[in-house]
Amino acid sequence: MHSLRFDNRFVQTLPADAETSARVRQVHGALYSRIDPTPVAAPRLVAHSREVAALLDISEDEVASPDFARVFGGNALVEGMAPYAANYGGHQFGHWAGQLGDGRAITLGETINQRGERWELQLKGAGPTPYSRSADGRAVLRSSIREFLCSEAMHHLGVPTTRALSLVATGEPVVRDMFYDGRPQEEPGAIVCRVAPSFIRFGNFELPASRDDIPLLKQLADFTIARDFPSLTEPAGSEALYAAWFTQVCERTAIMVAHWMRVGFVHGVMNTDNMSILGLTIDYGPYGWIDNFDLDWTPNTTDREHRRYRFGEQPQIAYWNLTRLANALAPLFADVEPLREALQHYITTYQAAERRNTAAKLGLLEALDEDLQRMQQLEKLLQGAEVDMTLFFRGLADVDFADPLASLSAAFYDKLKLAPFAPAFVNWFAGYRARLDRDGLDDTTRRARMNAANPRYVLRNYLAQLAIDRAEQGDEAGIAELLEVLRHPYDDQPGKESFAQLRPDWARQKAGCSMLSCSS
Ligand code: AMP
Ligand code: MG
Repeated sequence: MHSLRFDNRFVQTLPADAETSARVRQVHGALYSRIDPTPVAAPRLVAHSREVAALLDISEDEVASPDFARVFGGNALVEGMAPYAANYGGHQFGHWAGQLGDGRAITLGETINQRGERWELQLKGAGPTPYSRSADGRAVLRSSIREFLCSEAMHHLGVPTTRALSLVATGEPVVRDMFYDGRPQEEPGAIVCRVAPSFIRFGNFELPASRDDIPLLKQLADFTIARDFPSLTEPAGSEALYAAWFTQVCERTAIMVAHWMRVGFVHGVMNTDNMSILGLTIDYGPYGWIDNFDLDWTPNTTDREHRRYRFGEQPQIAYWNLTRLANALAPLFADVEPLREALQHYITTYQAAERRNTAAKLGLLEALDEDLQRMQQLEKLLQGAEVDMTLFFRGLADVDFADPLASLSAAFYDKLKLAPFAPAFVNWFAGYRARLDRDGLDDTTRRARMNAANPRYVLRNYLAQLAIDRAEQGDEAGIAELLEVLRHPYDDQPGKESFAQLRPDWARQKAGCSMLSCSS
């Protein structure tokens, strides 16, 4: 780790807050505040991702050294680090929330690996910053385990995401009122080191725009384009460049959300401060995975009433978030037409991705309009009959058309719920079979295509909760066990069948499994 090389372009290029204390305040005219992590009592490494360590040229020996836990627990800095908390705003649940900022995330620096790639290292839960408002700047073990595992699981599923290097226990308690019911409790604290080329969010642009600080907005846009979008070649500072850039943001966001829909991931808090400018899945909080297919499901108890961030609404919400970003960027344009076109590009990109997903999930060479309808009909059946999304699609590659429902019985939660839908299912399978015959892909190719789009293993909410329960009892082995399975989500892993089963009944209404709060 002492071989890490830093090139902290964000802090070298952009205006800093003059004050360097953690005093909570509104910060104007600056894009970040310098702040160091607050040391913790007893940093101890709980888990790490060997792929991310390798990405950063950190050897396994270094990971095992006490220095590693000290640095990634916030107790020591490596030469060249220049810690800061970013200043951003955001729309939360549809409303402008003003300044938010990194209330518990602290970027340590931007490191350049041997391949010349830039990776920003950021601790989550590293202590108070000027943006902590009334909160403590810390994170609990349960939510840190969830962020650590899901970041890596998403990566291995091929979904654009921030990564996680390490999970460090702090040895300090954190007090949380998990269900906001006036029963605060002490929980173990932890810190995740997140890793991404950039943690800039839509909200970073919204805040200066909301304050009419157009020079600051422009400075951030120019910086982001230069550092994070090097492939754009239009002249610096030109409207054409801003247009090409926003078009890219729309495209990447569309592709990210299409992946979420493909694998059954529900983010849970798609506020604009949780939307990455690079189209990466960011800020794993009360997210959840679809067990029984349900477009109306949201894991977030705070969102239970309006279900703004429900599974099926995610493509529309991402679009709405992009309209907020477009609004923030409008001062950089004389004419808003390019912004409109880029938003349109989101729609066409999303639709094309959805079509590709449909083809891949159903094992077709390409999806025709009738196949999009076929998929919609199937989704209605899956939802009505309470069918497990992951098990159904994975099983579909090997379905026995002589008795499709029997051959997919492992995917059904409730035979009684299935019964009224059985005739419609039989019909659907007849149409699907005829379609496959017309398509003419040979079985081996078809299965390979399907198995590359339909994972066998996802981070089911109850699996994460089992690992959390064990860890809170002192047995942390479940975290590495789960990570190991999730490293190869598309491979059949003999002996790992228990990680690819229906959610058990006990988990249906259990906290952490079907209901999650923002308290983390
Ligand atoms: P989130 O809903 O996790 O995206 O958080 C929204 C805002 O609240 C961000 O500005 C976070 O930095 C801040 N925040 C969340 N939890 C804490 C905490 N424990 N301490 C300080 N700030 C927090
Ligand atoms: Mg956030």
